[in-house]
Amino acid sequence: MKTVDQISFSGKKALIRVDFNVPLDENYNITDDNRMTAALPTIKKILNDGGAVILMSHLGRPKGGPEEKYSLKHLIPHLSDLLGQQVQFADDCIGAAATEKAKALGKGEVLLLENLRFYKEEEKGDKDFAEKLSKLGDIYVNDAFGTAHRAHASTAVIAQFFPTAKCFGYLMAAELQNAEKVLNGAAKPFTAIMGGSKVSDKIELIERLLDKVDNLIIGGGMAYTFAKADGGAIGKSLVEADKLDLALSLVEKAKQKGVNLLLPVDNVIADKFANDANTDVAKTGEIPDAWEGLDIGPETVKLFSKVIEESKTILWNGPMGVFEMDTFMVGTKAIADAVAKATDNGAFSLIGGGDSAAAVAKFGMTDEVSYVSTGGGALLEYMEGKELPGVKAINE
Ligand code: AMP
Repeated sequence: MKTVDQISFSGKKALIRVDFNVPLDENYNITDDNRMTAALPTIKKILNDGGAVILMSHLGRPKGGPEEKYSLKHLIPHLSDLLGQQVQFADDCIGAAATEKAKALGKGEVLLLENLRFYKEEEKGDKDFAEKLSKLGDIYVNDAFGTAHRAHASTAVIAQFFPTAKCFGYLMAAELQNAEKVLNGAAKPFTAIMGGSKVSDKIELIERLLDKVDNLIIGGGMAYTFAKADGGAIGKSLVEADKLDLALSLVEKAKQKGVNLLLPVDNVIADKFANDANTDVAKTGEIPDAWEGLDIGPETVKLFSKVIEESKTILWNGPMGVFEMDTFMVGTKAIADAVAKATDNGAFSLIGGGDSAAAVAKFGMTDEVSYVSTGGGALLEYMEGKELPGVKAINE
């Protein structure tokens, strides 16, 4: 794997694709800067080498033209603080503005380009657009794991214009190494914890994991599809009615492969989907008609926690309940505690991006697990065994 460590950036301009798609509030304050801090080691290495840095990213989902709320200029003050130096800004990612500022950029300086997705060519993977971007730097660095599963102009197509001058940044390298460690070097017992709303989103991953894990824990909304398939009463709980056969086949496959499949035995149920709902606890398969399951119950927490605490490798993707509402976050928090305890005892724990990462961040437990991935979809696809365009483009 070619990383920034194998290149000296002295006197060179590095064009780095970062994932600065951070959440902003209505006053353009950054509410979670994880994606920015994650890119700092790569930026600093290049500056320390005596290079210059040109950063490019997308932000939000603009409709193909400039939009104030998606301007990357809002990130300049915080990025300057994080780097301890003033970051320059080009109010267009290509054209005269970008070209002139990139040209004038001196050793040790940093330039941030305007949102790549202000051009529809970015997501289309347009080759001419990629070539225009490529003219801005001498070396291409991809450190945007969150978009590595997209064949966009700046994440993949651009690499062909740097046949011998392209590499991964530290974040990309760490993401890939940690995913590999879990997929192909897991110490046993290996436990995967799957949650979230839909089983259909995670079928491919679950099927692949059945060949690798000792324990497969299923919680969250997706568990009700399994309960219903088993003939249980699930009330108004989330269900994918067309996936009942799939759920049964996953149960059967787990049995055949000797995987210990754990499903919730009890549930926190609510009379409405709201924080102030009336709540109760019901055994799995015994949820009254007007109620819905929104979290795992206390017996399930005990059952899952025991298995997690005895594990040496843990992969967690998806919350155990509607953790965004405090009333229904208890199960997810308890599972996070069990993962932290196992980690403290020497286990390696990888938290998939997206909602599991958000849950761990909400509990302030990011430092109590081994690694929190910055990629939701990208990690899922990598773990499913798919080749990520952003990774392939650097490797070929
Ligand atoms: P996913 O994007 O598939 O990983 O699902 C994450 C979402 O699933 C979160 O927003 C949770 O609130 C939601 N979720 C988890 N458990 C449940 C449940 N029992 N009922 C409804 N939604 C749930």
